[in-house]
Amino acid sequence: MDELITHYPPEHKRAAVLWLLHLLQAHCGCLGREQVEWTAAKLGLQPINVWELVRFYPMFSEAPRGRFHLTVCRTLSCAQCGCGKIFQALEKKLGVPLDAVTPDGLFTLSAVECLAACGNGPALMINDLLFEHMTPERAVALVDQIRATGALPPQALAPLRPAHPLERRLLLANMSQPGYTGSLADYVAAGGYEALKKALALKPEVLTAEVADSELRGRGGAGFPCGMKWRFLDRKSGKPVYLVCNGDESEPGTFKDRQLLYRDPHQLLEGILITCHAIGAKVAYVYLRGEFPDGAELLEREIAVARARQLVGQNILGTGFDCEIYLHRGAGAYICGEETGLIESLEGKRAYPRIKPPFPAVYGLFGCPTVVNNIETLCNIPLIVRQGASWYHQLGVPRSTGTRLISLSGSVKRPGVYEIENGKVTLWQLIHDIGGGTLHERAVKGVIPGGSSMPVLPGDKLDIPIDFEAIRQAGSSAGSGAAIVLEEGEDIVGHALNVAQFYAHESCGQCTPCREGTLWMEKLLHRMHAGGGRPEDVDLLQDVADNIDGQTICALGEAAAWPIKAFLKHFRGEFEQACNGKGGAT
Ligand code: SF4
Repeated sequence: MDELITHYPPEHKRAAVLWLLHLLQAHCGCLGREQVEWTAAKLGLQPINVWELVRFYPMFSEAPRGRFHLTVCRTLSCAQCGCGKIFQALEKKLGVPLDAVTPDGLFTLSAVECLAACGNGPALMINDLLFEHMTPERAVALVDQIRATGALPPQALAPLRPAHPLERRLLLANMSQPGYTGSLADYVAAGGYEALKKALALKPEVLTAEVADSELRGRGGAGFPCGMKWRFLDRKSGKPVYLVCNGDESEPGTFKDRQLLYRDPHQLLEGILITCHAIGAKVAYVYLRGEFPDGAELLEREIAVARARQLVGQNILGTGFDCEIYLHRGAGAYICGEETGLIESLEGKRAYPRIKPPFPAVYGLFGCPTVVNNIETLCNIPLIVRQGASWYHQLGVPRSTGTRLISLSGSVKRPGVYEIENGKVTLWQLIHDIGGGTLHERAVKGVIPGGSSMPVLPGDKLDIPIDFEAIRQAGSSAGSGAAIVLEEGEDIVGHALNVAQFYAHESCGQCTPCREGTLWMEKLLHRMHAGGGRPEDVDLLQDVADNIDGQTICALGEAAAWPIKAFLKHFRGEFEQACNGKGGAT
């Protein structure tokens, strides 16, 4: 704990609070009064400053849990592939309701919002280990095995799918090679860290111009031009500059950053180091979602390996460039994906998004100029430096250059992470050629491009190239590069309810339209889905969504309203049917 506290400026040591709470919870089993008061004293805070975090972040618990905490993802893609049956099987096996502890003290079963394993669902996490492609039988067998041995069986990530001819693998190139482990030796053998050497010989402004010329757009969701973001930095303030890597991948349907992090961590570290040189940052924080505990261990280990080879720390590669990279663990709140919510969380507070302006480029982490870039965005930087902006720029299409990782999930035969050139593959090709068609060979009902917060596109309009502009013109957004496929016969009202539950759960509660509106949408959809909808409920649902959209501090308001509005626009008949006593779960 003392070492972790040194990762933050002494006047901001409260930033270590999430780390301390994770460690205390792992050691003591829960976060009660004793742990909270101890943490507050350690960091010079009032106990209320710690209580508010314990109650804000879903991964923390005041009550003791079983020795093995089973969390099953209940979010859309996992719901489509049967997570409900996993819940039923485990509840029956354990004999206790959700969040209760079994009499032997061994198990607690909980629901969780999105584990970023959407293409390999249903997903179950037990303590720090992720189990993909779960079946009810396997889940029950796991419980038996743990009871018999008192330990968790080893587990590895499901393998990456082989490359499809329509793909263009650049970020996934190394990990697609047989035997590639992601170690520093493997990365260097594949040409890794050559871009860093080249970058350190360039002036920061030349490097920034190169990235700006490549027209790389952010891959986290908003698609903001990366070079422009770097140029917005206030370099005259005299304050330190920070880079924050947004590794809080938690948009339902999105699971590509996990692949980059787990399978090729040095690609990310090289991107971070080059970016720090370009923006003049001496410290970078990787904000990693709490549900990647083994990813956090892996990254810490690889940072240490890089430090031992003079790639991180003081006088990097003998050039006089100093740069520290620290890992920061989140604790299960989706809103930390929003850049100012993430910064608040990194500072050791509740992840309340800030009113902008000022933007992080002027007033970011610890009140200093800050760049926040997503994992995939940063992984593109070594490529651009190594091959040049003009090479990168000819990939893809104008205004959507380069390649894009697509997280494909839902009702499709070959879900997975794929890498395509922007604008060179249509949604139809993604689903039918790369994805092998719909799971039950029915017509495509719709596809949600860009993660669950984006408007669904109807199944008869799939001839759309996958790039930022084409998807925007079609009425949705490329967002985080996720594509959730829905096929005919699926329970659309149930899916809308699932999405509404997610955003109601994840609203931080600052703005009334979001805090109250998301709960109203959930309540209305719940009533419709249970068969008790009233004829006027469809218009009421539309009205509530309209009154959230555009009325809030951050984009979570739109993220909650847009999908519901699009479901109503394209599939209104199914909602009307549910309000005439003919709806209900299927
Ligand atoms: Fe919080 Fe929702 Fe307001 Fe965003 S829109 S600040 S999540 S209440």
